[in-house]
Amino acid sequence: MSMVWLWNRVFGDPARIEQEERAEKQARAPQLEVDAGPPPGRCRACGYQGPERYCPTCLADTMVAVRHKKPRATVRK
Ligand SMILES: [Zn+2]
Repeated sequence: MSMVWLWNRVFGDPARIEQEERAEKQARAPQLEVDAGPPPGRCRACGYQGPERYCPTCLADTMVAVRHKKPRATVRK
């Protein structure tokens, strides 16, 4: 708690203080970072790369999983 904080508390604009407090709370909240997200995929139609299942460019279910070791291998199960 700084003097500026106290000053704002006493003389500041309540709306602004509320906004600042909300921003502070948001900054303190744990960020929901996706550490182990979905494996990166690649659109087999346009080549777009991303974690989405549906390519946002083609708007179709054309995403295939990118394989790090053998990108061109076609694995059938
Ligand atoms: Zn695509």
